[in-house]
Amino acid sequence: MSQEGRHPPFPIFDAHMHLDPDGRNVEAAMEFQRAGGTGLMLVSKPYQSITVGSVDDFTRNFELTVRLADDVSQKTGLKVMVAIGPHPAELPRLAGELGLEKARSTMMGAMQAAGKMVAEGRAQALGEIGRPHFPVDAALWEASNEILAAGLGIAGELGCAAILHTETATPEVFEELASMARRAGQDLERTVKHFSPPVVRKEDNFGLFPSVLAGKGAFEKALSQGTRFMVETDYIDDNRRPGAVLGPATVPRRTLDLFSRGILTEEQAFKIHRDNPEKVFGK
Ligand SMILES: [Zn+2]
Repeated sequence: MSQEGRHPPFPIFDAHMHLDPDGRNVEAAMEFQRAGGTGLMLVSKPYQSITVGSVDDFTRNFELTVRLADDVSQKTGLKVMVAIGPHPAELPRLAGELGLEKARSTMMGAMQAAGKMVAEGRAQALGEIGRPHFPVDAALWEASNEILAAGLGIAGELGCAAILHTETATPEVFEELASMARRAGQDLERTVKHFSPPVVRKEDNFGLFPSVLAGKGAFEKALSQGTRFMVETDYIDDNRRPGAVLGPATVPRRTLDLFSRGILTEEQAFKIHRDNPEKVFGK
């Protein structure tokens, strides 16, 4: 039910959200729901309470994400999907502590562990995986690409989605990621560019599936190019950084605003918020 006490006539899905046991977690999900949200992709993140130094630590991290998802869906009835994977920013940090080789093999082991949990049906996607969005040295960059390629290979074998965290998506970046996915045997329809600019046409994003950040007019811009995209907040649920990212109610608010102004039709809303997530993340 929305804040105003009326049900939106269509589902509303946030394609990339983080929750943290040390943040608002269920309460943030309730805010999303009150604004009209019906489903979300819950993505693992480096949690405040777990500093990762081994594959076992990563597994504890992924299990925490699964538990949070269960908790949210039990308490809210929201449809919660789960993405788990070694976050790309962990590699430089781990390399500083363990050396690059050990860091690399730990990330690889974590990718395998995440894949196993997807195979067991405990999560639906590998994510967010990729490479750092900030400059790193050549050896770290190469290792990041290797880890990413391994993740894409695992996703390809499992037939699941891979949610990519990378540097800013320029045409060159889209093209490179698409060819990496293809080489790894991963379906481009299930290769999601997280934090995507509103670049919707396949000739512009090289077939990757855009998850568009719902900030400043991006939803409208994406919509003017078609409906092959999802929308996300990348809410991080970190009390130490309030207001650092879009709030949990942003996707439903923007969606309902565009709908009430006649910019988004009901048919388009069903496509973006129901059909696309089912196609990309579903069995
Ligand atoms: Zn994220």
